[in-house]
Amino acid sequence: MAKSKKTKREDVWLECSECKSRNYRTSVSVASGSPKLELMKYCKLDRKHTLHKVRRK
Ligand SMILES: [Zn+2]
Repeated sequence: MAKSKKTKREDVWLECSECKSRNYRTSVSVASGSPKLELMKYCKLDRKHTLHKVRRK
């Protein structure tokens, strides 16, 4: 099993869990399967902080 020294990163979207709009783009490490990130971020549409979940392309 060959292991790469480079950490594989993937561009993902942070999607608002309330209005489903994709407000932020970030990159996450995908070395250990699919990332599960949940962050409180400001949503322009909701005009408040909501839970944003990672949405892979
Ligand atoms: Zn929203």
